[in-house]
Amino acid sequence: MNKQKGHLICAVEPGSIAEEMELKPGDRVVAINEKEIEDVFDYEYLIKDEYIELFVITAEGEEWELDIEKDYDQDLGIVFENGLMSDYRSCSNKCIFCFIDQMPPGMRETLYFKDDDSRLSFLQGNYITLTNMKEKDIQRIIDYKLSPINISVQTTNPELRCKMLHNRFAGESLKKIQTLYEAGVEMNGQIVLCKNVNDKEELERSIRDLSQYIPYMESVSVVPVGLSKFREGLYPLEPFTKEDAEQTIDIIERWQRKIYQEHGIHFIHASDEFYILAQRPLPEEERYDGYIQLENGVGMLRLLMEEAKEAMEALNGDDRAFEFSLATGKLAFPYIKAIYQKLNEKFPNVIGHIYSITNEFFGEMITVSGLITGQDLKNQLIRQQLGEQLLLPSNMFRSGENVFLDDVTKQELEKTLQVSINIVKSSGQALIYAMLGQSDPEEGEENHAPYELEK
Ligand code: SF4
Repeated sequence: MNKQKGHLICAVEPGSIAEEMELKPGDRVVAINEKEIEDVFDYEYLIKDEYIELFVITAEGEEWELDIEKDYDQDLGIVFENGLMSDYRSCSNKCIFCFIDQMPPGMRETLYFKDDDSRLSFLQGNYITLTNMKEKDIQRIIDYKLSPINISVQTTNPELRCKMLHNRFAGESLKKIQTLYEAGVEMNGQIVLCKNVNDKEELERSIRDLSQYIPYMESVSVVPVGLSKFREGLYPLEPFTKEDAEQTIDIIERWQRKIYQEHGIHFIHASDEFYILAQRPLPEEERYDGYIQLENGVGMLRLLMEEAKEAMEALNGDDRAFEFSLATGKLAFPYIKAIYQKLNEKFPNVIGHIYSITNEFFGEMITVSGLITGQDLKNQLIRQQLGEQLLLPSNMFRSGENVFLDDVTKQELEKTLQVSINIVKSSGQALIYAMLGQSDPEEGEENHAPYELEK
């Protein structure tokens, strides 16, 4: 095996087996139990054992064979340079609804990367179309018992799927769902709904077909296509109207009732956007089956309201004085405003200015806070009352960094608006504490993933 083979270690967790074995950044892991590691799937599978033999080439070029005895599920504590331990797999489709095709030019390059990688489905919950997966990939998922696999279904009509994904193999690849089902692999599905394309009878057909895969298919979300203002030359898609949203919800709720009676789960879920568009109340908490499709914007607002209510009930009101502002997308605005009004009844000297930001950058039809840019915030907040602090939801920022989608930084915005910014994690409790100007006692605990518009 030559020196460049293997996967580069970039960090070793303190107190881990890897540290005990004196592994360090710069070393390369080549094989486990004499099997060369292709990617993270192989690695995760092969380390699950009580005895493993690790073959490593150190940064100095020495070859080490390490015999490790450990608990079956115990991790080695190695952080690799590349999370997938292989190149990212890009998609082989040209979907008529793809959001990446609707982005303006000149944004940072990584935002234009179209991934469709089953390893990301397993690691980060990404939705994949299955179109670029070979038999061997499916077999590894089954053999390695990797789940859940999140699938962008769009429709179960093979011809229509080919048309929507602009890929002649897209219909055929639906058969892979059957293979995964027969092997007992847990799955979740997603349908990006496009008006007059895969809605109405086609939606009925998709729900009917996908419900055959219960219990391994655990849930399916239906989200409206996101339409930016940059659609020139693309497939002519129309926005949904209030009536369309009502009709879509009626179909979904009818199926929910039927499936609940038969299987005890609601299974099919309309995203929050449909309820807001239809001007209907959000479903009660029980209907979200444990918020299984939260990352697709299903139940995000209901959960926020419930968490905020619970956090408020646990507090005794007082006469503290604090003035803040908060900016969010049009979608969440009425709900956040209602939360503030309720809080203000208990804390009458806490004054909040809640602003709904119009998405000028991508176009007014984009209403989620996760796609609001720094420049829209600058332009729309510059002459507003901002109080002592401006609260912004964490999903407006690039993961782990203080940078907006358009590369404007938090510091730049603070300077322009002359106000300090507090980035608020996406939980109702974090929101309540931020509105009161105090830190969240559960800061650092796990939060929900940001709610981003689907591609
Ligand atoms: S929507 Fe996803 S699968 Fe379709 S073209 Fe865009 S990136 Fe590829």
